[in-house]
Amino acid sequence: MAASASSLLAAAASSSCAAISPRLPRGAPAAASVPSPSRHTCPSLRASPARRHQSRFVASVAPTMQPSAESRVSTVVDVDLGDRSYPIYIGAGLLDEPDLLQRHVHGKRVLVVTNTTVAPLYLEKVTWALTHNNPNVSVESVILPDGEKYKDMDTLMKVFDKAIESRLDRRCTFVALGGGVIGDMCGFAAAAFLRGVNFIQIPTTLMAQVDSSVGGKTGINHPLGKNLIGAFYQPQCVLIDTDTLNTLPDRELASGIAEVVKYGLIRDAPFFEWQEKNISALLAREPSALAYAIKRSCENKAEVVAQDEKESGLRATLNLGHTFGHAIETGTGYGAWLHGEAIAAGTVMAADMSHRLGWIDESIRKRVVDILEQAKLPITPPETMTVDKFKSIMAVDKKVADGLLRLILLKGPLGSCVFTGEYDRKALDETLHAFCNN
Ligand code: NAD
Repeated sequence: MAASASSLLAAAASSSCAAISPRLPRGAPAAASVPSPSRHTCPSLRASPARRHQSRFVASVAPTMQPSAESRVSTVVDVDLGDRSYPIYIGAGLLDEPDLLQRHVHGKRVLVVTNTTVAPLYLEKVTWALTHNNPNVSVESVILPDGEKYKDMDTLMKVFDKAIESRLDRRCTFVALGGGVIGDMCGFAAAAFLRGVNFIQIPTTLMAQVDSSVGGKTGINHPLGKNLIGAFYQPQCVLIDTDTLNTLPDRELASGIAEVVKYGLIRDAPFFEWQEKNISALLAREPSALAYAIKRSCENKAEVVAQDEKESGLRATLNLGHTFGHAIETGTGYGAWLHGEAIAAGTVMAADMSHRLGWIDESIRKRVVDILEQAKLPITPPETMTVDKFKSIMAVDKKVADGLLRLILLKGPLGSCVFTGEYDRKALDETLHAFCNN
């Protein structure tokens, strides 16, 4: 049971896919009492026993370990994808741990991709972490304009311009430093540059730390639809320094909570119940509550991704509320609403539709509304979103197959959902009319 901070760091850093030994118990911070979570997978999407066995998922936690000069890694969640497995390091002050980052850099050239907001806050620190006692490595950076509206082809081209002008070769490493927009764009650039170079995620928003940096979905928006152009491309590691959340605006923090709530609703009822009890602590940025929410979210995401990397079924359930939410983002113009805000309203619409279909109790629908309201997130779409606007944008959603719009809907007890095209179209119509002006 006893494991020193340095031995944990050494074990974590020396193996990106193996379990860390000795195994430490899972646990929540003392401030937030949490029952050992049981798994609630969509009934229709449950993995077969054989598949479950293959998809080994490992999460090692040292909840009582104090930060020290040697290591501040308090949690390592491994994403188990065979030879593409990688660790997610979670802890306060991890950017002060050069070894952790340097271990995952391939080659001698690094390109840090960041934006005008994050660069003044963390670029110097990351450059230090990459180069400290490491004179062989040289670091370039490209600083993109900030905002969802720049998650496009023109801005992506600036990354390629910089990489080509700097004569980076196949042995270089791209580092994404920022929120989900930077992570998605940098990952896509890494997938495409010279047909694929190494890539590290340093997520600095709650949204990116609980969701977008994990699982290898990368891409950009098209004016007609969100994230329609992209690639599955896994990073070498995800380094989550929870201290970076100290500079995050409240509205952005709340946006990330929308995705935390999602994990509880689709597959982890005890986590949802924990959120109901700890929502004030999360909004107040209580470090142990935030650390637990990030850890548990990464564990849920890693488990789903390990079972269904390319989204043939199970992984689609991570998109609860996203079909409605993406329509809001596209319909209002990218960036007007934050991603998590659109997802929150979309999640309420999905819960409403699930209830109309008779698939969940009214009490669950109400709990969804209550927790999102407490998180100060919107629970209805903006007034400019008409029924027709929703329908036309949803028609080009990535989950349309053979002309049929498939949705993630809640079904059964708390923590259960389905991904299906088999639902009464009347319920969708009724939900749209209930939430839109016409
Ligand atoms: P974002 O990247 O736009 O970041 C939000 C804002 O916070 C930006 O202004 C950013 O500059 C700023 N910021 C970032 N870190 C900061 C810090 N530490 N301190 C102060 N300001 C900081 O938005 P987001 O919410 O992080 O991510 C949303 C994007 O992620 C969307 O494009 C969405 O489609 C994508 N996403 C992708 C996945 C996936 O699986 N790939 C999952 C969820 C969301």
